Amino acid sequence: MSNKKIHDFHDFCVRFREKIANFVVMKVIYNRFIPFGSFHGLNLFGTIFVQRRWGKMDPHELNHETIHTLQQWEMTYVGFYLWYCVEYLVRLVQYRFKTEKAYYNISFEREAYANERNQHYVSQRRPMAWVNYLRKSS
Ligand SMILES: [Zn+2]
Repeated sequence: MSNKKIHDFHDFCVRFREKIANFVVMKVIYNRFIPFGSFHGLNLFGTIFVQRRWGKMDPHELNHETIHTLQQWEMTYVGFYLWYCVEYLVRLVQYRFKTEKAYYNISFEREAYANERNQHYVSQRRPMAWVNYLRKSS
């Protein structure tokens, strides 16, 4: 391929990613019971459940959940939840049953926490970017 074609293709990909990011419409449902326990938010098929006692979501939290929604799309939802649970179990063993440490090290969470403060991340993110977080970078 010529340089121009590669450049055009790159441009196309950048624009495509921005378009995809615009499709993410986050619906947040504030309620009294879901999610249970100390979890702040639960993203179910792109709808976020937040207990009212935690207050309104801030832009970083919304960005975090938007990243999860993109992960869910590319893993066709079922794949996301399956992988999430299996990786959590693997991390539990890896981190000697420290539940919080296991949760923060699920690659979906690593990607979301690492980039939630970057408001441009969602529109620049490469598909399946979470795969890069399977191994710890540090
Ligand atoms: Zn998360």
